[in-house]
Amino acid sequence: MNKKLVGRLACPVCLSELRLTVLDEVGETIVEGSLICGSCGVSYSVCESTPSLLPGDATPLVGQAP
Ligand SMILES: [Zn+2]
Repeated sequence: MNKKLVGRLACPVCLSELRLTVLDEVGETIVEGSLICGSCGVSYSVCESTPSLLPGDATPLVGQAP
């Protein structure tokens, strides 16, 4: 997934902007990371350059300040 696409993605539940956390990147491409929705308190994973933006793929954020 290209970094520039992040600004065009939104949470599938509340349509808020997503915050990106990168774990692994190659050039402008995010290979592994997380897309976090602060409004819902969940994160969506980016795996093998593919973001999983389905409500069922959301992982609750635990132990993080809002
Ligand atoms: Zn949300």
